[in-house]
Amino acid sequence: MQHPPHQSLVATVPPQRVPARERDQDTPWHSDAVCRRDEAGLFFAPSKEPTAARLAREEAAKRVCAQCPVMIQCREHALLQPEPYGVWGGLTAAERRVVLARRRRRDLDLTSGPIAAAG
Ligand code: SF4
Repeated sequence: MQHPPHQSLVATVPPQRVPARERDQDTPWHSDAVCRRDEAGLFFAPSKEPTAARLAREEAAKRVCAQCPVMIQCREHALLQPEPYGVWGGLTAAERRVVLARRRRRDLDLTSGPIAAAG
């Protein structure tokens, strides 16, 4: 059985987060994830993390993601699930929410715009 990226954090993830992560354990791109051994704990927030520490941690995680050969696959996975927590594919959870909102708006425009109305 394959393990998800951020493997070392699985044991610290609260139970309500586990199911989404377990669904991904057969995803092939995980084997190339550079964060499989996240000893530094960069990708998920510890409880009660101060804002400045969170921002620094997220930037460090993004630097790791920028070097990752499966960043695009990871990002799309996190958007499609959607993954509610942590840095995935170089995006924080808040950044993923923005991307998803833009995609929903774009999809609405495509289905309700003048071209769609004419079709
Ligand atoms: S893009 Fe980032 S979060 Fe995704 S697998 Fe690579 S290092 Fe891990």
